[in-house]
Amino acid sequence: MTTLLPDPSSSCAEAFARLVQLVASCQRCPSMAGRRRVLSEHNGPIDALVLFIAEAPGRLGGDRSGIPLTADRSGQNFNRLLTSAGLTRDRIFVTNVVLCNPRDARDRNRPPNKVEILNCHSHLEAQLALVEAPIVATLGTTALRALDRIEPHGLRLREAVGQQFSWRDRRLVPLYHPSEQAMISRPFARQAEDYQRLGCYVRELARSTA
Ligand code: SF4
Repeated sequence: MTTLLPDPSSSCAEAFARLVQLVASCQRCPSMAGRRRVLSEHNGPIDALVLFIAEAPGRLGGDRSGIPLTADRSGQNFNRLLTSAGLTRDRIFVTNVVLCNPRDARDRNRPPNKVEILNCHSHLEAQLALVEAPIVATLGTTALRALDRIEPHGLRLREAVGQQFSWRDRRLVPLYHPSEQAMISRPFARQAEDYQRLGCYVRELARSTA
């Protein structure tokens, strides 16, 4: 399995371009044949303030637009939540645990399975190595677990939501996914409060490094 990690002799931008190329031709998941590989410069700048990691591109969202968390209902919710944090898309990088849109036999979105998550794991590690955002925000349990596999943090979403933790050399902020389904467990107003706290962490960090 090919893994692309930053080559010290090339710039991050060049290494990111090579990763995009690698992912574009990735054939590890037969179930994703014909799906868009949702990784490009449209995910955000590699010098982002916050790296958001969600579960998978949606059929009507990232798979259609090529930009994670746009166009569909989750994307609309996410954009409103970003406003609560005082963040804009040009300061964040958004990606997913799996970079293609998983669908069921009736062509509906489905959660990625364990094999697909494992197949895409090295792509996630490569993005974490290249996007050096000081804050990593996971959106939902799948993303939080994916980071636990990279370096154990032992966090559970329900108890950890909206708080910041040290993880590797960054801050990790677990958040709920902005989907309508997740709003049942964490309604929009509560999620907006979580994002307000995230905005505070970003501003604290900016002050401490000024
Ligand atoms: S989900 Fe990830 S590992 Fe699977 S085909 Fe898409 S890019 Fe490759």
